Amino acid sequence: MNTDDLPTLREELEAHDLWAKKSLGQHFLLDLNITRRIARAAGDLRGNPAIEVGPGPGGLTRALLEAGADPLIVIEKDARFLPLLEPLVEWSGGRLRIIHGDALETDQASLLSDATASIISNLPYNVGTHLLVKWLKAGAWRGPMTLMFQKEVAQRIVAKPGHNAYGRLAVLAQARCDCRLEFVVPSRAFTPPPKIDSAIVRLVDRVDPYPHLDALERVTAAAFGQRRKMLRSALRALTPEAEPLLNAAGLDPTARAETIDQSGFRRLTDAWLTMA
Ligand code: SAM
Repeated sequence: MNTDDLPTLREELEAHDLWAKKSLGQHFLLDLNITRRIARAAGDLRGNPAIEVGPGPGGLTRALLEAGADPLIVIEKDARFLPLLEPLVEWSGGRLRIIHGDALETDQASLLSDATASIISNLPYNVGTHLLVKWLKAGAWRGPMTLMFQKEVAQRIVAKPGHNAYGRLAVLAQARCDCRLEFVVPSRAFTPPPKIDSAIVRLVDRVDPYPHLDALERVTAAAFGQRRKMLRSALRALTPEAEPLLNAAGLDPTARAETIDQSGFRRLTDAWLTMA
């Protein structure tokens, strides 16, 4: 199987008179060196199920099929790209399955029915974090994710306590996954180039994932809702018993949310669940 057998992505876009729609966050990766690098960052895909949201013209799709994903399920909202994706079904020996639809509305439980399926995606910017949170909370599914975000969002996912970017997204993502920023992709690598650089983040299920992510989300929303305030004030948005709650969790009531690590937030959420 060789991508040289296929028309280039630029030829395909021209032949079908396709252009990027801003409203769907369309910025394409047409350089197979970059899409192959993303596929490599996703680990060994050979014979393993994978899901890609927003394949667009199919650059990353080609690289994932080349890397051996089986099956590869892609979900694309923009019907204009279907004629570019359909030939890849035969080219891949039937390993590709195309869903025309909105990933935000797709039934996640049936999509993620294989608990080990990888998700690899150059996400549309306007829905990226929303989808990530959905996947973090997706029931029995425990697969790894290799995802492109705006660089600033990628930094918010991997941030550690004390860092400016540390907040709700870091605590939630790191409660379920070990998160690593793999590499930065400069804006000039995309067609058309977005205003800012992007980065690939790899999220792998941790050995001790925290089970109460909905509760953790509520606790972090209150704690970081007023991040300059001491926790004993900020947590009043959650409970009138903020100080006893912090004492029960073994946390300093005068500390600020940005200094509390993963285990601190777990204790705080456990204590809140016990008190509630
Ligand atoms: N994967 C392609 C690449 O790397 O060149 C395209 C990436 S582009 C940033 C995002 C893609 O997601 C577009 O093809 C867009 O149409 C699609 N998309 C946007 N919103 C979507 C949604 N809610 N569900 C599924 N696909 C969506």
